[in-house]
Amino acid sequence: MNYRHAYHAGNFADVVKHAVLARLVEYLKRKDKAFRVIDTHAGIGLYDLGSEEAQKTGEWHDGIGRLVEARLPADVENLLAPYLDAVRASNPDGGIERYPGSPLIVRHLLRKQDRLSAIELHPADARTLAALFDGDFQTRVTELDGWLALGAHLPPKEKRGLVLVDPPFEKEGEFARLADGLKRAHRRWPGGMFALWYPIKDRKAVAAFRAALADAGIAKILDIAFEIRPPSPEPRFDGTGMVVVNPPYALEAELRVLMPVLGKILVQDGTARWSAEWLAGEAPAA
Ligand code: SAM
Repeated sequence: MNYRHAYHAGNFADVVKHAVLARLVEYLKRKDKAFRVIDTHAGIGLYDLGSEEAQKTGEWHDGIGRLVEARLPADVENLLAPYLDAVRASNPDGGIERYPGSPLIVRHLLRKQDRLSAIELHPADARTLAALFDGDFQTRVTELDGWLALGAHLPPKEKRGLVLVDPPFEKEGEFARLADGLKRAHRRWPGGMFALWYPIKDRKAVAAFRAALADAGIAKILDIAFEIRPPSPEPRFDGTGMVVVNPPYALEAELRVLMPVLGKILVQDGTARWSAEWLAGEAPAA
C-alpha cells in the first residue's frame, strides 16, 4: 500500500466527491430516524496542507484553494454550506491550512443519533484516524480491509444510511473490485445508499466499469462524471466520477445547480464538463 492521500487532499476530485457526499448525508438528515455512514477507505481524516506531501504536488490550490476564494451564487452557497462548514470547522483561525477528509466531513454533519464507521487498512493511517476520533462514541474506527466491510458490516443495525467506497486505485483491477464489491454489498443491503468514487483517467476501464454496473441487476444507479479538461490522448487524470446507488430524489436537481459552477471554478484547460447519467433506472437492468 503505497498510496498516500496526503498528496492529493483537497484537490479538485476531493472537492467534487466531498460536495456530493455532504449532499447525501444532508438528505439522510431529512428524517429523524438514526442512520449510519460506513466509510470503507477512510484515510487519516485530517490533512495538513502545509505538509511536505501537500506542498510537493500543490494539488489543493486548484481544488479547495480555488473554491474558498470563489464568489458563489446564493443557491450554490446553500448547497455547499454543509461541506464548506466542515472545511471551516477544520480551520478555526480562518484561512485554509487543513483539509478534512471524508470521515471528518461526515462526522461534522452527523446528529447525535447518527453513527459513523470509518475503516482504514494502512496500520499507521488507521492509528492516526483512531486518535482523531478518540473518545467520540458516535464514531468507530476499525483497521480492516474495507472490501471485507462490504460483506460482514452490512446491513448496519440502523438499516438506514450510506456506504462510501473510495479506494486508492493504485493496483490493477480496482474497477472490477469496485463493481464486485457493490454487487456483494447490494445483495446484503438492497435499500442502502452507496457512493463509489472512481478516477476518469483510463477511459476504456471507465467504460467497462459503467457497462458492468449497468449489467449488475441493480436498480437506481446514477453515474456522475466531472471533467476539468477535454480528454487527453494518453491516459491522464482528467476527471472524477461518483456512482450513487439509490440516490436521493433531489440529487439530480441539486447537481444541475452545483456542477456548472464547480466546473467554472475548477476548470484547468479549455472547458470543464459534467454529466449525471442513469446506468440503471427504477427496474433492474438484468
Ligand atoms: N476517503 C478518503 C477521503 O475522501 O478523505 C480518502 C481515501 S484514499 C483515496 C484511500 C485510502 O484507502 C487510503 O488511506 C489507503 O491507505 C486506504 N486503503 C487502501 N487499501 C485499502 C483497503 N483494502 N481497505 C481499506 N482501506 C484501504
